Amino acid sequence: MADRELACIYFDAERGCGLKVVEGIPTAADCSNCSKYDGPARGLGDHVHTVAKTLGIDRVVKKVTRGKCGCEERRNRMNRQYPSKD
Ligand code: SF4
Repeated sequence: MADRELACIYFDAERGCGLKVVEGIPTAADCSNCSKYDGPARGLGDHVHTVAKTLGIDRVVKKVTRGKCGCEERRNRMNRQYPSKD
């Protein structure tokens, strides 16, 4: 994956990450596993995340599991296994 195919809305080529998740300029590897990523879907995991967030399912699951739902690991794994083609 080329370095800036990930178009996170918080990325700034000169100032780095707007959320300060990463010090300095985040690499594509930093952004590909970042739970704060917001932008075009990186893969199936981002699509599932968007649907769950839109329907409010993510908040219910996080509350029931007390934040230990494993959603981020699952999201990253699904993004790696089924990446976006565009
Ligand atoms: S993906 Fe994460 S590390 Fe990368 S710019 Fe967005 S918020 Fe920052």
